[in-house]
Amino acid sequence: MEIEQLRLRLRALGARPSHEARLLRAWLQGHALDAGPRTESNRLPKALQAALPELEAELGALARVRSEHPGEDGTRLLVELADAQAVESVLLPRDGLCVSTQVGCAVGCVFCMTGKDGLLRQLDSGEIVAQVALARRLRRVHKVVFMGMGEPAHNLDAVIEAIELLGTEGALPHKNLVLSTVGDLRVFERLPQMRVKPALALSLHSTRAALRAALLPRAPRIDPAELVELGEAWARASGYPIQYQWTLIEGVNDGEDELEGIVRLLAGKYAVMNMIPFNRVDGLDYRRPAAESAAEIARRLHRAGILTKLRQSAGQDVDGGCGQLRAREAKLAFV
Ligand code: SF4
Repeated sequence: MEIEQLRLRLRALGARPSHEARLLRAWLQGHALDAGPRTESNRLPKALQAALPELEAELGALARVRSEHPGEDGTRLLVELADAQAVESVLLPRDGLCVSTQVGCAVGCVFCMTGKDGLLRQLDSGEIVAQVALARRLRRVHKVVFMGMGEPAHNLDAVIEAIELLGTEGALPHKNLVLSTVGDLRVFERLPQMRVKPALALSLHSTRAALRAALLPRAPRIDPAELVELGEAWARASGYPIQYQWTLIEGVNDGEDELEGIVRLLAGKYAVMNMIPFNRVDGLDYRRPAAESAAEIARRLHRAGILTKLRQSAGQDVDGGCGQLRAREAKLAFV
């Protein structure tokens, strides 16, 4: 269900703008649709009131928890969609939530399980937002990052519709909506036109164009320096720093050349570098760097003036862990 279709349906049932806003707010907060005090002035039209149970059931079926997997750095939810496909959402520390935007992904990053099977289908805007409504039934959500399964730029209309609803009726501050991309130029074209201005995360992973192309095989062939320039322009326009994502893989992108490259590209930029040590994935030969080497890389970048955070993984599309629940489940279905 696209959000626009839902709005049209509410209007066809007689909803005035105030009714529409109230029902959407109730849904996005994870409440029953007719929650809140009933007064003469906010009474719903009869047809709309009568349709609420059916609507409630349809919205509830957009995203259901199939299983929960608590971990040290967040709880992964395997979320079942109405057609029984599944995606992952992650309840992050500090009231964050990571949502998926596609079933599968066409970018095929070599360190990511989601990219292994390619793109299976797009999520519609209702399914993206339903992950937030679902999570809010479990706990508070004050930040949403679009870094789960899928490349948001490959489903941009639905993602923008979801961001615009979450930044208005969803009561989330714009800077707490984080749109992530591997560097699709369409994102940079659309951002300035958006009513809700999200923060931006860019998957960098290497400062060397050739290595980056090998790690992210079907990402746009944009030079890392150009990507950083585009990011910087949005950071200045939006007032939020760009969050660069870097999956740290031993012997691949953790060498001196890359550290020098990061300093060269990011010194003086309005940016945060998120370093995420690679998480082991069955069937992939990459290695996770030792904790002390990863910490030393972060310290050295810090000393060179690059604000660097060493993250553990939860919710980052780049952690290689994303997609594993779904993949494991698919494997079990075949044995
Ligand atoms: Fe797609 Fe993100 Fe996985 Fe790359 S890391 S394949 S962009 S889901």
